[in-house]
Amino acid sequence: MPPIPSPLLDHPEYLEHYRWMTRAIALAAAAGAAGEVPVGAVIVNASGELIAEGENRRERDHDPTAHAEIVALRQAGRVLQTWHLEPCTLYVTLEPCPMCSGALIQARLGRLVYGTDDYKAGAIRTVANLPDSACSNHHLQVIGGILETPCRQQLQEWFSQRRARKSS
Ligand SMILES: [Zn+2]
Repeated sequence: MPPIPSPLLDHPEYLEHYRWMTRAIALAAAAGAAGEVPVGAVIVNASGELIAEGENRRERDHDPTAHAEIVALRQAGRVLQTWHLEPCTLYVTLEPCPMCSGALIQARLGRLVYGTDDYKAGAIRTVANLPDSACSNHHLQVIGGILETPCRQQLQEWFSQRRARKSS
């Protein structure tokens, strides 16, 4: 788990984002320790209660779709007994890829909060913008950059450790 800086603001909405992103970072750390690219996600309902968690499980499940967001979306659907997630907020440490961005649109997710931009595959705004594109029929509220530094460092450190292991 990377060091988490203290909150920047004491605004209640920011503190909510800070709290849930910290939880997503802890899930990502667990995935990283299990040999997965460290990405974690949580889903919170309209009352601010945690209803689902996910971490990247692609290697462990031999499943190309087992990204943290997809794992969390499936759990939220089971908990709420619906695929409609309009009242929910999903927190994820890394900007979603095209598959996950598509799934968030399919779920009619209310709001996405993510940590760090993905310059290789980010499909929310960095490489592509699926939510605002012609293939989307759903307006997704997005907040990026919450706890950006630990989210980014966690990924960078995991990849640099993997490179060091491979070359030794
Ligand atoms: Zn994804």
